[in-house]
Amino acid sequence: MGGKRKKRTKPIRVRPKVPSTFECPRCGKVSINIKIKDGVANVTCGSCGLHAEIEVPPVFDNANAYGKFLDMYLEGKIEINEEETNIDEEEENHEDERKSEELH
Ligand SMILES: [Zn+2]
Repeated sequence: MGGKRKKRTKPIRVRPKVPSTFECPRCGKVSINIKIKDGVANVTCGSCGLHAEIEVPPVFDNANAYGKFLDMYLEGKIEINEEETNIDEEEENHEDERKSEELH
C-alpha cells in the first residue's frame, strides 16, 4: 500500500510580523504605537498625541494590548495622559507653511 500521493507542498506564507501600528480610536489614523514592558503596555498615538498605559498580562502581545486598550478607551475606563491638550490644526498648518517657505 504505497499510494502516497499527498505530496503536495503548499507554499505556506507565514507572517511572523506582528503589526506594530494600530488605528487610533480618537483621530482614526494608523499611528498607534504599543510598547509592552514589565506588564504595562504603553500606548501612544504618533498623530494626535494620545497616550495611555494599561496593565496587561505577560502573555499579551501588541495586538492583544491594543484590543484591551480599545475596549477600555471605548468604555471610557482608560487614563489618558495628554501631553498636548490643545492641538490646534490651524497652528500646525501655519508651521508647515513656514517650514516649506524656508526650504524654498
Ligand atoms: Zn490619534
